[in-house]
Amino acid sequence: MFPKQHLVVSTIWAAASLPALGKRTPIAWASSILIDVDHYLWYAIHFRNLSLQDALDYFYTTPPRRRTPSLNVFHTIEFLGLLAAVSNFSAVLRAVLYGFLFHILADTYYDIRVGTLFRRRRSIILSFLRPRTSKA
Ligand SMILES: [Zn+2]
Repeated sequence: MFPKQHLVVSTIWAAASLPALGKRTPIAWASSILIDVDHYLWYAIHFRNLSLQDALDYFYTTPPRRRTPSLNVFHTIEFLGLLAAVSNFSAVLRAVLYGFLFHILADTYYDIRVGTLFRRRRSIILSFLRPRTSKA
């Protein structure tokens, strides 16, 4: 899902969640969008290129099915498990967790719709145990 799509669905979700999240709604909303920073981190490491414009060009011009399978660390089950564990001690981190979970739900829906559900690496451990090539 692209940033503009995340902005729209996250804003609707945050507005609907306002009664439940209260003053932490902006944190959850921002988290549900900023989680995708890890796409840029993956791009910068994988292509050894720090250009944000080049990263945006890659993600906007390369169809999802033709992209190299990526490991986006904030989207992994391990990171979410760690965040869930520490969110027991902080309401702010709990709001971040809600934002991340909503974002990943939206990504999963998008991946199902465009047929890329199994192209995304969702586990750090599994990605090292079963590395995939770009032809996967
Ligand atoms: Zn995402």
